[in-house]
Amino acid sequence: MKPVHILLVSFYLSLFGVMAQENNDVSVKKSLELMGTQFEITVVAPNEDIGYINIDEAVSEIKRIEKMISSWDENSETSLINQNAGIKPVKVSKELFNLIDRAIRVSEITDGAFDITYASMDKIWQFDGSMNRMPSPNEIANSVAKIGYQEILLDTENQTVFLSKSGMKIGFGAIGKGYAADKAKELLVSKQVKAGIINASGDLTTWGTKADGGKWMVGISNPLDKSKVFSWLPVVESSVATSGNYEKYVVFQGKKYSHIIDPRTGYPTSGVNSVSIFAKKVELCDALATAVFVMGRDTGLHMINQLDGVEAVVVDSENKIHKSSGVVFEQNQ
Ligand code: ADP
Ligand code: MG
Repeated sequence: MKPVHILLVSFYLSLFGVMAQENNDVSVKKSLELMGTQFEITVVAPNEDIGYINIDEAVSEIKRIEKMISSWDENSETSLINQNAGIKPVKVSKELFNLIDRAIRVSEITDGAFDITYASMDKIWQFDGSMNRMPSPNEIANSVAKIGYQEILLDTENQTVFLSKSGMKIGFGAIGKGYAADKAKELLVSKQVKAGIINASGDLTTWGTKADGGKWMVGISNPLDKSKVFSWLPVVESSVATSGNYEKYVVFQGKKYSHIIDPRTGYPTSGVNSVSIFAKKVELCDALATAVFVMGRDTGLHMINQLDGVEAVVVDSENKIHKSSGVVFEQNQ
């Protein structure tokens, strides 16, 4: 992978509404809420009408995936797996089976920092200001007792998924948006849509070039003043995802605990403000952003440096920037 030029981590796209270009192609953009998050879909099309048709196709694809992985729709394939935890294996579509298989692989390379059985955790931490004491070590240990990707039993021949402990659950909160964005892009590429961006609240994937032939650029803002974009970087046929939340945390004895909880210990993570991951597929970016957040700066970056085609930028709790070995900072303002 080519070096990634980046300074920091909030992203603004360089396109607004519909813009006509020299070769008569237009860029068409639509924002809407899907999968509980804000999606913004941009396509390059021969005219505005075709652009909006393409966008509708992408939206249908995202809705289809939402139906498969939703935990609140009790008839989704995912809910059926969860309802049968500790009871019996459930036959699922090849698509969901493969998604779970890839999620387990991410668990393996991140040593369990990313784990879709995270959804089995008892929510003992509240980040709405209502907590007035630290939970006891016992409560914390019990809260993660049902977590463990090793207990997701996949049977390739029968295409079944079995959660071996009763009360276990899987959830796609940290990988689903990315997967849906990859699939929407794949669909549009298969329909010869020449270029675009699928952006799920900052987790985004691009293909082709802008209508005028220029590269898709992502604007990088200063976290201390998010209104100021001070650097732009190209994202070419690839993806970016960011995990980070500056607002949601609790403080006990002067230490700040973020809302992201380590599924291996039950303790909230600390020391990291945000993580951005760059790779070909936004599904992997999405999952690894969460994982690096949990692993922390040094262990996280060490892991990223072992992976081909993946780069990371970590902003620590002092707002200092750290990067994986392939990231080159640009000093322009
Ligand atoms: P965001 O994109 O909102 O910053 P993430 O991509 O990091 O968030 O995903 C957050 C969601 O992922 C949480 O709501 C939770 O359901 C789930 N999650 C949190 N931590 C983990 C983890 N360590 N492994 C897998 N899923 C997680
Ligand atoms: Mg994520």
